Amino acid sequence: MTTAKDLLRHEMMPHILCPGCGHGIVMNAMLRVLARRHQNLDKVALVAGIGCSSRIVGYVDANTLHTTHGRALTFATGLKLARPELEVIVVTGDGDGLGIGGNHLIHAARRNVDLTCILFNNETYGMTGGQLAPTTVKQAFTTTSPGGNTEPNFDAAVLAKAAGASFVARGQAYRPDVLEEVMERALDHRGFSFVEVMTDCTEYFGRKNALGLGSDLLFTQSRSDQEVSRDLADWPSLRTPQGWQVRETQPLGVLHEDRRPTFEESRGLPGYSEREV
Ligand code: SF4
Repeated sequence: MTTAKDLLRHEMMPHILCPGCGHGIVMNAMLRVLARRHQNLDKVALVAGIGCSSRIVGYVDANTLHTTHGRALTFATGLKLARPELEVIVVTGDGDGLGIGGNHLIHAARRNVDLTCILFNNETYGMTGGQLAPTTVKQAFTTTSPGGNTEPNFDAAVLAKAAGASFVARGQAYRPDVLEEVMERALDHRGFSFVEVMTDCTEYFGRKNALGLGSDLLFTQSRSDQEVSRDLADWPSLRTPQGWQVRETQPLGVLHEDRRPTFEESRGLPGYSEREV
């Protein structure tokens, strides 16, 4: 049986992720799902932009493309149309996919290209220095908001649905079981699938806001699970020393799914049904 470890490029280790970074948990969940679906990743392509989350495709023994900042979905669209038999997965971050590449995200969703986009949301630009991202919550401190963020943040899942994504889900590093389930369903879906994953940047976002260790940050993700948060309502670490709430309450799981013609189907191009050819 194939395991997640079998799908790694061991020659690329050690990885660059900081201690406590949530991305490793998300990557492991993705690899476990892929290991259940494939003996090897010869028919899988991972396409990434720039950032700490995008960097992880380099560690996976699949067909991998590390592209330019914010442009992973454009490369992935071309690849999918040229090689419809491939399962194409875009790995991106909130800065890469929603900030610099936000325009490409809405149009990929609108076109309903048969791709799966996994967006790691850690509320900051990690690799480039901890700048304000379109997902940074109000009042949070970042390198470029030293007085606290004054802008409202995007709800990535709501945005993707409004733009036309035919599958939208949200998971979090704190709940890898839910994450695996939604990733599996996203890969099964025919059309543009968008999975937002709440994860953490300990080095920049966590440190700038005095949020503690990676484990503390991970635990605060439970704030967005309404079931769990009832028990944690008075837990002091849910608020920063400055008093703002670390997590907004957000629903998890599959948030939207419909079946409409994919970009390939509407143009009579080879698509999903020819994957095994
Ligand atoms: S900078 Fe932040 S997002 Fe990047 S590896 Fe370090 S903790 Fe993770």
